[in-house]
Parts: sequence; structure tokens; C-alpha cells
Amino acid sequence: MRKVFNFHGGIHPPENKLQSVGTPIADAGIPPELIIPLSQHIGAPAEPVVAVGDVVLKGQMIAQPKGFVSVPLHAPTSGTITAIEERQIAHPSGHRAPCMVIASDGQDQWIAHSGCSDYSTLDKAQLLARIRDAGIAGMGGAGFPAAVKLSVREGVKIDTLILNGTECEPYITADDVLMRERAQQIVAGAKILRQLIDPVETLIGVEDNKPEGLAALRQAAQGSDIEIVEFPTKYPSGGEKQLIEILTGKQVPSGGLPSDVGVICQNVGSAVAIYDAVVNGRPLISRVTTVTGAGVSQPQNFDVLIGTPMSYLLDKAGYQADKNRRLIMGGPMMGFTVPSAEVPIVKTTNCVLAPTEKELPTPPPAQACIRCGMCAEVCPASLLPQQMFWFAQGKEFEKLEAHNLFDCIECGACSWVCPSTIPLVQYYRASKAEIVQLRKDNEKSEQSRVRFEARQERLAREDAEKEAKRAARKKAAEERAQQSAAAGGDEDPIQAAIERAKAKKAAQQAGASTENELEKLEKAVVTTRKRLATASGKLQQAKAEGSDLVAALQTGVDKTQAKLEAAEKALHDYQQVNEAAPEHAAPTDAADAAIAKAMAARAAESALSDEEKARANLEKLQQRLEKSITKLAQSRENGDEEKIIVALESTVERLSDKVAQAQQQLQTTEGA
Ligand code: SF4
Ligand code: SF4
Repeated sequence: MRKVFNFHGGIHPPENKLQSVGTPIADAGIPPELIIPLSQHIGAPAEPVVAVGDVVLKGQMIAQPKGFVSVPLHAPTSGTITAIEERQIAHPSGHRAPCMVIASDGQDQWIAHSGCSDYSTLDKAQLLARIRDAGIAGMGGAGFPAAVKLSVREGVKIDTLILNGTECEPYITADDVLMRERAQQIVAGAKILRQLIDPVETLIGVEDNKPEGLAALRQAAQGSDIEIVEFPTKYPSGGEKQLIEILTGKQVPSGGLPSDVGVICQNVGSAVAIYDAVVNGRPLISRVTTVTGAGVSQPQNFDVLIGTPMSYLLDKAGYQADKNRRLIMGGPMMGFTVPSAEVPIVKTTNCVLAPTEKELPTPPPAQACIRCGMCAEVCPASLLPQQMFWFAQGKEFEKLEAHNLFDCIECGACSWVCPSTIPLVQYYRASKAEIVQLRKDNEKSEQSRVRFEARQERLAREDAEKEAKRAARKKAAEERAQQSAAAGGDEDPIQAAIERAKAKKAAQQAGASTENELEKLEKAVVTTRKRLATASGKLQQAKAEGSDLVAALQTGVDKTQAKLEAAEKALHDYQQVNEAAPEHAAPTDAADAAIAKAMAARAAESALSDEEKARANLEKLQQRLEKSITKLAQSRENGDEEKIIVALESTVERLSDKVAQAQQQLQTTEGA
């Protein structure tokens, strides 16, 4: 007889199991409509692979896993996909979620499928693939994808495989009837799991309040190395960590996994599903669910298709709505009230409870905590529920985490014993949800911060690279200038450009002087004419009066006339010289001129040979380069902004490259 251990805390609530074990597992049948939530498991929701209007067969995959921690979904019966939309699902928050809706055709026609009766021929990867493809998610209530749980990390040795047949929660008997009626399949499932993970020992743990199930399992396991372990009934022995401690004496560390102590746990329902997947090639499309409570006239267990509306199942069990106060999915300790009877049965639904008010009375209003410490005494996770309650009220999440909130298995034992009827477990559930949401938000903002910083770094790096290039170009130019000066050879192009810029400036100034000269000459002509007119007038008057001044005035007129002629000649000469300059050319229409020029250039270009074209192109580019160098030199001399200088440097660099290419092009055409 194997030694069993005890875990800290625990309670003994009324079991209320006998009501639903009096009859064999019944077939719930095919409802007219099935609602399949895309997320029925821990991890990413599945992704539809069929569309509205598609006809599907029983067992056909209708949604594929999205990521490693995810499972596929299969049509529980044949029919037509009528909707992929949000529907109310069974969740403590009562929220809606994406679902696929199938209108059943009543034919229940299977898709072609095949299993492998001799699974010993399959290797580990093949076994794991079959389990993954069958969409099996932990059927004990947690919904962890079985294939993920069975994918043991490299280097981790599993000593003990445990099948959980504890079913410690009151009212629920789904696993009990499964052990009574399908013990052979459970044992076969255990053997498949043994082949997969190769443990030292395999244990099936069952509480002593299930004698028929124990007997059936012992018979099925006869002659095998699978050990059926019976232990005293206590709630919550079915908790994974608690069961491991009971059967092995090992404690899974806070925040750790069973594999950390060399153990893997699977529910007995999952073992049957694994057997079905590997041996019969059938995906998980149904499960055994207990329908019980005084609100139904025939409490019993049903083999029910996933997606069956709860109302359909309740009717099969003789639902009496007038007696029922609320509908619970799961048991009275860990289950939750559903918002409507239309929510579907999912892979983790082990029980539908329809209690009367007398059965599960509404708890009286919560009173102040009297610090009795009973909650800590019964806590199977050895937590401090009273302190956690205070922290949860004050939303002190860091302290809650420091008090190992996430080790709480939400068994409700603390709430059950609390004399002040404080709904402790509700506080812990809400706090966990808030912390998880906060973590997600923090993760998002952290990702945003990382993205922002990466962008800033990239910009700074680009700026530094530009600056380094600019400095390198400047240094190279200076070095070239120095080398040129030292060699006394060709003049520095930059310096030459500066000189040319100076010359141009001087020329412009000279142009300005020219304009002044013209003005002066014109003014001199006008003034002299006026003087001549005045002098001539005076001379005429003197002649008319017979004045003695006539001779003197005549001399003055003659001199002024000579001056005028000299001024007019100077002006004429000046105009003769400068009229040829373009600035004095008659204005023409600029656009017409440009078009005409361009056309002429094109015509001229088309008449050129390839070599001539290449030469012309080179000359054009050399001119542009020279202009750019001049501009750059002027800009430097004027002390322009750095960005202007950088832009000009870049232009010079680009044009230098083009000149080099054009030179190469010319050489090619010359050689052709
Ligand atoms: S059982 Fe209730 S009253 Fe007693 S310490 Fe815990 S929370 Fe307070
Ligand atoms: S609900 Fe959490 S805190 Fe309360 S007894 Fe259970 S494990 Fe402990």
C-alpha cells in the first residue's frame, strides 16, 4: 500500500454527489444549433478556417491553433456554418466573445478519419502531433492545452505521471462516472502518456468517496505498471499541487510548475480524449458533464457535444426554472454564475449546477473581519487570506503579489469558513484580473518606450554618420589643398573658386560704376543744353538791345556749344561701347526664349555623335560642378549656416561622381 501525504488546510463541505450517479452516462443528442467559442482554453484563441455558409462534417477542423499555446476546434456534428460572431459565453465577467455557430443537419456525418490501434509504433513527435491536432485542452477545468503540457523542456526528467481522478468539488461526478464506465480507456490513455514521457511511475489518484470508480480502475490496470492510489476525501485534494503533495510528498515551489519537481499531471477525462485521438483518430468534440442541483428533476451525467447550449442540456435533465435561483457552470466552490442559459458547453465544462435557494442560499451581507484566522487555517496554498483581503481592498497589488496571490487556486475554502461571510475569493479573482491587465498595459508601454528609444538612437547614429562624412570631406579637401600648395602644382579648386568669386564681385561693382558713368554723361548733356539755351537767349536779347556785351556773350555761346558737342560725343561713344552688352539688349519673352533655346539644344544634340554627346555632357557637368564649388566657397566665406554648407558639399560630391561617370562614358565612346 503506497504511503500518501497530507497537505495544509482543506475543508469538508457537503458532497452532494449521489444525486447524479444513479444512472449511466446519457447521450445528450444533437441540438439544432451549436455555439463554439474560439477560445475555450488557456492561450491564444483559435482562428477560423471555414466561412459562413460552408457545409462541415463531424470532426472537421473549423478553426486552427494560433500559436504554440493554442488548440484547434472541430465541428461537433455535421451541418452548416451560419455565423461567426460574438455570442454570450460562460465566463465570470459575463462578457461576449467570438464564436462559430453551426446549424446541425441531423445527419451527424463523420469526416474521414483514422486512428492507430498499435500506438507503440508511433514515436513521441507523432503522438504529440495527434494530441495537438485533436484539440485537447485540460478537461479538469483549467483548460491548459494538453500538447503544451506534455512538451517537456529539454533536460527535464519526469519521474511521475499522475492522472487526476480526484474530483473533490461537491456535486460534480463527471470523472467518477467516467472512471466507472470508461476505466479501460483511461488506463489506455495512461499507457499512451507513459510512452510519450517515459516516467518512472504512473499513478492514478482517486479519493476514497468513489469506490466504484476505484474498483473499475484497479481492474483495468491489472497487470500493468499503473498504480491506483486511494486517499482520504478532503477539499481541494484535486488541486494539481495538492494532489502532487498527497501522492508524492513533493511541494511544487511558489510560481513553479509540476515539472519542476519531476511530475506531470493530466485529468482522467483528458486521458480518455488522448486515447480517442491516438487510437480512434477522433478530435475532442464532446465531453461528460454533470447536470445537477435541485433545480433539475433528473440529475445525471451526459455525453454532450461541445457547443451545446446550456438550456438544451438542462431540458434533457428536467429543468425546473421556477425552482432554480441561478445557474452555475462548475461546482459550488469554484464555479461561477452564468449570465444566461444560452451560453454553450465548452471543453472545460465539467458541471452545470441548477440549485434552489434552499440548497445554496444567498450569503448574508459581509461583516467586518474579526481576525479569527480560520481562513489561513484552511488555505491549501498556505497563504494569508486575511492580509490578502486587506491588500485587495486597497488595491495594493505589489503587496498582493509579494503575498503570493498567484499561488491562490481560487478554491474558495477561505470564503466558505469565514464567519463574517466575506467573499474573499471574489476579491482575489478580481485582483488577479486587474494585475494581469496592468502587466499587459505595462508590457505595451514598455514596447512603445523601447521603440521610441530605438528611433532616437537611430536618428542620433545617422546624424553622427553625416557629421563624420562631412568632417572627412572637409579634411580631405584641406589635405588636397595642402598637397597642391606644397607641390606648387595646380591651384586649389576651392581657392580658385574663391578668387573667381572675388573677381565676379569686382566685375559686378564695375558694372555699377558703368551705370553711374552713363548717368553722369547724360546729365552733362542735359545741363549743357540748358546752359546753351540760356546763353543763346541772353545773346539774342543783347543783339536786340544793341548792347556792348554781344561779343562777350557770343564767345560764351560758342564755348558752351563746344562743351555740348563734347558731352554729346562722350555720351554717344559710351553708348556705342556698351550697347553690345546683353543687359542693354531688348527684352524678349523669357519662356519663348527658353523653349526656343531648349529646342535648339535638342536639335543640336540629336545631330551629335555618341562621342560628341558624351563630351558635351561632360562639359555641362564640369560647368555645373564648377558653379557648385564656387557657391560652396562663397557660402564658406560668408559663414553661412552649417546645413547650407552640408547641402552644398553634398551637391559637389554628387556632381563629382557624375563627372567621373561622364569621363568614363566619354572614354568608352572614344574607344568604341
Ligand atoms: S476568516 Fe474571515 S473573519 Fe476570520 S480572519 Fe479570515 S477574513 Fe477575517
Ligand atoms: S481561495 Fe485562495 S486564499 Fe482562499 S483558501 Fe483557496 S487558495 Fe487559499
